[in-house]
Amino acid sequence: MSSQKQTANDEGLSCHTCGYRHLPVLYARRGLRMIRRVRECRHCGRRITTRERV
Ligand SMILES: [Zn+2]
Repeated sequence: MSSQKQTANDEGLSCHTCGYRHLPVLYARRGLRMIRRVRECRHCGRRITTRERV
């Protein structure tokens, strides 16, 4: 497996369905203490929501 270098927040993130690692952010929603990013797998189209603390 080839590993792609990404930013720290994206490290280890991969599609739950197909394992594809290229998950561009569709949009981000900012909450009180966290940011939710909705990503979409380029391979199978599955959407994945990630949460980050501010
Ligand atoms: Zn996928």
